[in-house]
Amino acid sequence: MEKLNLQKATTVAKSPLLFEIFHECQTTKARTGRMSLVHYDVDTPVFMPVGTQGTLKGLLPQQLEKLNCQIILGNTYHLGTRPGIDILKKAGGLHNFMNWKRALLTDSGGFQMVSLLQLACIQEDGVEFRSPYTGSTCILSPEYSIEIQNIIGADIAMQLDDVVHSTLKGQRVEEAMNRTCRWLDRCLKVHGKSNEQSIFAIVQGGLNAKLRSECAKELVQRKVNGFAVGGLSGGESKDDFWRMVHLSTDILPRNKPRYLMGVGFAVDLIICSALGIDMFDCVFPTRTARFGCALIRTGQINLKQLQYRKDMRPIDETCECSTCKTYTRAYLHHIVTIETVACHLLSVHNIAFQMKLMQDIRRSIEEQKFPEFIQQFMLDLYPNKEYPSWIINALKAVNIKLL
Ligand SMILES: [Zn+2]
Repeated sequence: MEKLNLQKATTVAKSPLLFEIFHECQTTKARTGRMSLVHYDVDTPVFMPVGTQGTLKGLLPQQLEKLNCQIILGNTYHLGTRPGIDILKKAGGLHNFMNWKRALLTDSGGFQMVSLLQLACIQEDGVEFRSPYTGSTCILSPEYSIEIQNIIGADIAMQLDDVVHSTLKGQRVEEAMNRTCRWLDRCLKVHGKSNEQSIFAIVQGGLNAKLRSECAKELVQRKVNGFAVGGLSGGESKDDFWRMVHLSTDILPRNKPRYLMGVGFAVDLIICSALGIDMFDCVFPTRTARFGCALIRTGQINLKQLQYRKDMRPIDETCECSTCKTYTRAYLHHIVTIETVACHLLSVHNIAFQMKLMQDIRRSIEEQKFPEFIQQFMLDLYPNKEYPSWIINALKAVNIKLL
């Protein structure tokens, strides 16, 4: 019996990611599916909360499980500098270190480095930077990024990509796109745990349709288990944003998961699911909680405002989270700027909000009611029907006309 189990474990370990598609929307490009990963199964489309230091700010792993989070994201740059790879190695990887039993994804560390460190400099070898802790110069190369991510041991690791600002134009965008393809090959070459971890490729190319298609076409020739669309959500126009997503998902293969990096606003989650994206991540829900803001379907409410001083309703009467079941807006207003527990209570609600939204998206796709779901959502958000033109255009591209 034991022998049989062992054999099964070996077979499972050989495919660190199996992606099954369950339902495809007959109007849009949306689909529901499941990624079977080594540590946990993940229902898609999925929102992945971001745990920067191996913890979600204000939430414990057990609470994330209770909120039905199946996968969270860890930042390689932060984890690699603190606690550092020696400690993570000693702990046997991040799952053990933070006692998170479900799925994990790590970014490559490159984006964090470029956005956090003014001294970072990108060259063919990698991203060169001066450590803010020791002051010494180091290089995050594709090889080193994978070495760190192998030690962290997430179910999904990201290739190191050459990220340029999303609104940048010209030669540098093309250089970054080509370098991203070369860096993927270097990542795949040194990947030491291909039975346990998948590496996702990242489509770059700025806002240039030709470069982005070229990049996607080049990357799909590589043997990877999934693809990401990167370099967006950085201040570009919403019309540029959705067009780049639409174009990328048209080229990426149907049978592999597609991950749109750094996107987490409700409207974007809905529209990009319609454009065929399966995975999202964003610091927004937990970050906005720290500023005293709670997410609701029509946006967010800032509990610091005086208008909530005597408001005895929960944040959202329809929300099932422990914060909404237990506390009033008035109470949250009372503690919001003075007690860290308020940040915790709002984070619980905001993560619950994201999880519920994704569940509603998945359910409506399953029931072939996604177009109606989108129409109703947008009408609730814009009761005067003054829809922004990018929303009208994006939805038109996937055959949806707003009410
Ligand atoms: Zn709630």
